[in-house]
Amino acid sequence: MVDHFISTVTPPSVLQEAAFWFIFQGFRLLVQIDGAETIVPRLEDPSGLDIDVRRRQYLGILNLPSGPVHCFSTEVSKTQTIPKGFAFLSLRRLFSRLDDTMLALAGRAVQIVEWDRTHQFCGRCGIPVQDMPFERAKKCPQCGLTSYPRLAPAIIVSVERTTASGRKLLLAHNLRHPAGFYSVLAGFVEPGETLEECVRREIREEVGIEVKNICYFGSQPWPFPNSLMIAFTSEYASGEITLEEDELDDASWFAADALPPVPPPISIARQLIDHFVQKNSNRC
Ligand SMILES: [Zn+2]
Repeated sequence: MVDHFISTVTPPSVLQEAAFWFIFQGFRLLVQIDGAETIVPRLEDPSGLDIDVRRRQYLGILNLPSGPVHCFSTEVSKTQTIPKGFAFLSLRRLFSRLDDTMLALAGRAVQIVEWDRTHQFCGRCGIPVQDMPFERAKKCPQCGLTSYPRLAPAIIVSVERTTASGRKLLLAHNLRHPAGFYSVLAGFVEPGETLEECVRREIREEVGIEVKNICYFGSQPWPFPNSLMIAFTSEYASGEITLEEDELDDASWFAADALPPVPPPISIARQLIDHFVQKNSNRC
């Protein structure tokens, strides 16, 4: 999503001009509110805003038409006062307010801030670790254990079938989602499992059916808190819908012209649903 961003851990020795600062309080990002515009602040240093940072991470260089801009992330305490004209907003609230590039960088930044905060000590022997100079990693000076930012891969999958009344898409209502809101199925990959095995297992566990023709569709970083969504399309093979009632309270086959409320366009879940609609809406 951010093709014009160069990720690196080595900051410039001298900062010639203001950088983008992704400043988090928990999982909320500090943004400047300027009328209808929401802006990630460009600063020479957060201390200019009377911001007291805890740790800072250099993210890399964003190449804008106006020139390259360095990017940093950091976090502040819960008691940090908010500068006038600024606000701390959750990434979900920023979906419709920041452009794709800034949203993607904010998602990257929050995961690096969180990893830095929770990996200050060696997981094996408990002593303080050191940042490695040329990669996003931390190494224990005593036992040599190296840790990298953690990602939790998750699959998300559309299932289509041909019925007597046309092509249908499987959508389910998850108990954690608002009433009436449906989506495609998803689940975390288990250790030792291929993505295709995960797709089959999740569909089997959640709705009791078998799928075939599993095809890669795309992927999306999902920083809530550190997932990478890997999307597939698939085709119904056999079985009847049997719900896993701890997670779902409904699942049904929907035609392209009769969909229930579905996730917002930014999510890859919605992109899978839109893909089905585009293929099938003219034939309904
Ligand atoms: Zn160690």
